[in-house]
Amino acid sequence: MGISVDELVRRNAEFVAGGAFAGLSFPSHQTLRVITCVDSRVDPADVLGLALGDAVVLRNIGGRITPSVLRELALLAELGRGGPRTAAHTVVMHHTQCGIRALAAYPDRLAEFFEIPADELAAKAVADPYAAVRIDAGILRAALPGETQVTGLVYDVDTGRIEVAAPPVTGGSDV
Ligand SMILES: [Zn+2]
Repeated sequence: MGISVDELVRRNAEFVAGGAFAGLSFPSHQTLRVITCVDSRVDPADVLGLALGDAVVLRNIGGRITPSVLRELALLAELGRGGPRTAAHTVVMHHTQCGIRALAAYPDRLAEFFEIPADELAAKAVADPYAAVRIDAGILRAALPGETQVTGLVYDVDTGRIEVAAPPVTGGSDV
């Protein structure tokens, strides 16, 4: 069995006592965005040292840039309308030993996740997080407005280190 509700409530009491939630502002267009995997080993709060309020985080299997993620980002952008439109930064973080590799055994369902035909799955490089994060950073750069910077990271679950696999590039180009 996992962590009990009683334990979660106890941990929350510690959180409340720490006061980290107080006075945080609503996320703006300039708040860092992180897209990463659901894997319990790769929480960006720990891996990237993000404090509460530092980043808007989207997580799915693999941290992949699917049409669903692009729709969410477009909807989120509506919340930032009217605010400053500069220096926004979006980070995609994939990781080694990702479970998405095992899902290659289910090509039809994986293709559904990516919203592509199953015979095009090879283009998503699910076995190689370094290649995959470059592919996804490219999709984001093409999809996001020109003032948004996009970076692709790979987190190594053995060493705890991140590698900048796709250095920061401003969007609006297909570099
Ligand atoms: Zn994963």
